[in-house]
Amino acid sequence: MQRHAPLKPIWICTACAHPWPCGPARLELAAQYASEPHYLALDMAGLLNEAAEDLTRLNPTSPDPAALHGRFLGWIRHVTGARSPIRSLGHFEC
Ligand SMILES: [Zn+2]
Repeated sequence: MQRHAPLKPIWICTACAHPWPCGPARLELAAQYASEPHYLALDMAGLLNEAAEDLTRLNPTSPDPAALHGRFLGWIRHVTGARSPIRSLGHFEC
């Protein structure tokens, strides 16, 4: 179970209150999907759609699609393309 989990529908981290997925959440997800990294992208794409719907409903101004894409999917290539996913994620801030 993730310690840094999303608090829906506002999509902040339940542990550190940063926008989810925070740095530690990304590390947890990378470890969780280490043997099946392609499923990480699929699941994160589904969560991106869910978050976009929630945040659009809650905010008077729609969230920036490019920012949401980067937040949910932009970091994954570092996991799937790096020799050491944990090391490559180490520079992410929470
Ligand atoms: Zn967190």
